[in-house]
Amino acid sequence: MSDMKDLFLLTDKQIERHDTIEALIPRFKERAAELDEKAAFPFENFAELKEKGLTKIVVPKVFGGEEASLTDFLLVQEQVAQGDGATALSLGWHNGVIMQLRETEKWSQKNFITLSKEIVDKGVLINTIATEPATGSPARGGKPETTARPIEGGYEISGKKTFTSLAPILDYFIVTATVEPNGEIGEFLIPKNSEGLSIDETWNTMGMRATRSDDLILHRVKVDGDAWVAKRTPGSKPAIPHGWLLHVPACYIGIAKAARDEAVAFAKTYQPNSLDHPIKDVPEVRRKTAEMDLKMMQARHFMYSVSKMWDDYPEHRPNLSTELTAVKTTVTNMAIDIVDLAMRIVGGHSLAKSNPLERYYRDVRAGLHNPPSDDITMMALGNKAYDS
Ligand SMILES: Cc1cc2nc3c(=O)[nH]c(=O)nc-3n(C[C@H](O)[C@H](O)[C@H](O)COP(=O)(O)OP(=O)(O)OC[C@H]3O[C@@H](n4cnc5c(N)ncnc54)[C@H](O)[C@@H]3O)c2cc1C
Repeated sequence: MSDMKDLFLLTDKQIERHDTIEALIPRFKERAAELDEKAAFPFENFAELKEKGLTKIVVPKVFGGEEASLTDFLLVQEQVAQGDGATALSLGWHNGVIMQLRETEKWSQKNFITLSKEIVDKGVLINTIATEPATGSPARGGKPETTARPIEGGYEISGKKTFTSLAPILDYFIVTATVEPNGEIGEFLIPKNSEGLSIDETWNTMGMRATRSDDLILHRVKVDGDAWVAKRTPGSKPAIPHGWLLHVPACYIGIAKAARDEAVAFAKTYQPNSLDHPIKDVPEVRRKTAEMDLKMMQARHFMYSVSKMWDDYPEHRPNLSTELTAVKTTVTNMAIDIVDLAMRIVGGHSLAKSNPLERYYRDVRAGLHNPPSDDITMMALGNKAYDS
C-alpha cells in the first residue's frame, strides 16, 4: 500500500486506483516533454489508461463500470496530472461526459446503455465539442453557428468547432448545433468515421499542447434522427449544476503538486558554493515551500469538501452551483500560484527547456480558460449576494 500520507485516500478502492496510477506515472513523466514539444497526442498513455480500466471508472456498475463517485474521479485526475497534465485533462473530458450523462439522465436509457457498453467492451472515447470561433466559450451562452438541417430520416450537420480535445483518438463527438428552422439547440452524437467529418490540425498553443484540441470540421455530415441525443438552452441555469467539471481544477492542482515536488527535490540537493548546505536550509526557501503547501492544503480541502457534499448529499446538488464555480476559480488560481512559487525556489534553472517546471508553468495557465472562467464565477457570487 503506497503513500498513506495522502489523507484524501479514504477507501480501499481509492487506494487501489492510486497504486495503479502510481505505476504509470514514471512512464507518463518520461514521455511528457517530447509530446509537449511535438504537440503530439499521448496515444501510449491512453493505451495504458484503457488497459488499467481508467476510461470506464464512472460507467455505472450495472453496465460493467465502477460507478466512481465525483471524489474518486477527482483523485484520479489529480494523480494522472502529476504524470502528464495534457493526458489528465483529456481523460477528464471523457470521464466527465459519462458522469454528466449518468447523473442527469439526459440521454435516453437506450443510448446511454449502448455507449456504456461500448466504453466497457471496446474502450471507446467520447467528448463534447461545444466551442466555436463565433460563440467563444459556451459557458457564456452563445448560440452555435453549426447547423442541423432536417433531411429525410435525420439531419445534415455543417459547421466548425474549435478546442476539440482528444481530436485524434475520439470515437464519438457530441456536437452542439442550432436546429433549423426552429432554432432549438441540439446535442448530436457523431461517430468518427462519418462522411464529411474531418479534423483541421490547428492546435499550436503554449500549454496543454498534447491535448490536440484541434478544429472539427463538419461538412454536410448526415446523421440519423436518433443522433439528436439531448437539448440545450444556452445561458439557462441547469437543474443539476456541473459537478463533474471539477475534473478541471483537479487536473491543475495535480500539475501544481508535480511542480511542488520538483522544487522540494531540487532544494534538497542543490548546493551552490556560496552555502555550506543545500538551499532547503535557507529560511526564504522554507517560507516559500510553506506557502506552496498552505495553498495546496487550502485548495484540496476546499475541492474535496465540495465533492464530498456532492457525493454524500445528492439533495444539495441543485444548490451547489456557486460552490462548484468557486472551487474551479480558487483551486486553479492556487495551482498557478504554487507553480510560480516552485519556480521561484528553483530559480533560473526552472526556465530551462529540459526542466519540467517550464512545461508545468505553461500547462497550468490553460486552466484559466477552461470553464467556468473567473469572471463567470465572480459574477455568480456577486449576483448571489444581491439578487437571490
Ligand atoms: C486546453 C483546453 C482544452 C479545451 N477543450 C475543450 C473541449 O474539449 N471541448 C470544448 O467545447 N471546449 C474546450 N475548450 C474551450 C473552452 O471551454 C473555452 O470555450 C475556450 O477556452 C474559450 O474560452 P474564453 O473564455 O477565452 O472564450 P471567449 O468567449 O472567446 O472569451 C474571450 C474573452 O472575451 C471576454 N468575453 C467574451 N464573451 C464575453 C461575455 N459574454 N461577457 C463578458 N466577457 C466576455 C472575456 O474577457 C474572455 O476572456 C478547451 C480550452 C482549453 C484551453
